[in-house]
Amino acid sequence: MDSNPDSGPSQLPTALPIKIQGLTKKYGSMYALDSVDLDIKSGEFLTLLGPSGSGKTTLLMAIAGFNRPDAGSIRFGDEEMILKAPHQRGVGMVFQSYALFPHMTVAENIAFPLKLRGVAAAESAERVDTALATVQLSGLGDRDIDQLSGGQRQRVALARAFVFRPRILLMDEPLSALDKKLREQMQIELKHLHEQLGVTTVYVTHDQREALTMSDRIAVINEGKLTQVDTPHVIYNRPANAFVADFIGESTMLPLTANESGGLQFDDHLIAHDHAGDAGSEWSLVIRPERLFVIGDEVIDPEKTVVFPGVIREFVFQGDTAFALASIGEQHNLSFRFGTDSSSSQDTLHPGDSISLGLHRSDVIIIPRDRKP
Ligand code: ADP
Ligand code: MG
Repeated sequence: MDSNPDSGPSQLPTALPIKIQGLTKKYGSMYALDSVDLDIKSGEFLTLLGPSGSGKTTLLMAIAGFNRPDAGSIRFGDEEMILKAPHQRGVGMVFQSYALFPHMTVAENIAFPLKLRGVAAAESAERVDTALATVQLSGLGDRDIDQLSGGQRQRVALARAFVFRPRILLMDEPLSALDKKLREQMQIELKHLHEQLGVTTVYVTHDQREALTMSDRIAVINEGKLTQVDTPHVIYNRPANAFVADFIGESTMLPLTANESGGLQFDDHLIAHDHAGDAGSEWSLVIRPERLFVIGDEVIDPEKTVVFPGVIREFVFQGDTAFALASIGEQHNLSFRFGTDSSSSQDTLHPGDSISLGLHRSDVIIIPRDRKP
């Protein structure tokens, strides 16, 4: 009999929640992680998104047990992990560099974690076959690693990470070495694989579109601090601060000032009627380029729509969409984007034209004004 409790072929592992509290990691005097609190739900696909050097890998490695934080706690379920070695944590890991064993075949690579755990040969062979089928590499078990393409290698690395049925799967920029087309295909495949395995997954990327595509929730990290943790929808539509608004998607920011009656103004445009800001306090209006529209002959209800009169400065056709820049007032520009189907205004916009741009009040995003670092 196999003594490994989770090795029965029909048994699915139970996913585990991860609770991170006050996690701090310093390199010299630099905080790579600065008091990070993060609750990851059981079975969730959570993406850590941030620019290069923001602390993503440091956080992932701390969860895996490959680095020792200076302070804080990491719990899997009820169990404190902070002092445990990587092999005691039972996490599956996929790296950007694949980290496959070049002298082993595909099947031997995938079987490696099973061998470490003492799984019997017959069962191991069966699980490797299932894992190969899951990543669509059936029949390639006897190949050498150097006979595989980049995409196939990444699938082998994935299969090796989940073949032992970890309750937590960690992936550090696993698709960044692939070309755009394959990367987009693999994003969808990984999402399906996650649904199939039901395993709690922490995924690292610096690619905001990838994060929006794949995640249940996104944790945005900057300089070792989490700046917002929320669903892709909320992160995009309700960014909490200038960093998130700027890093995720395209946006224009206009300066707002609170007036005496608590409304927010941009020049003489009233953007919001009542806002909690003290008179004179400074805010920013975040405008997504695809939320602006050119107003034609239609009647506009100013209660529902903010109207910006402007002059077209640039117009660029980009295939599926067109991009335009309009100046509004003396000092500000608004960029906007629209579809290029035959009903759009692409043929009627030229530099120098006066136009009116509309923004539905429900698309108004207001954030505290940030002094740019
Ligand atoms: P990311 O994965 O988001 O690109 P990292 O977690 O790798 O960022 O790094 C966060 C910060 O910590 C960076 O400033 C990086 O230079 C620094 N850092 C990472 N690992 C080490 C190390 N072993 N020694 C010194 N500094 C490090
Ligand atoms: Mg990294």
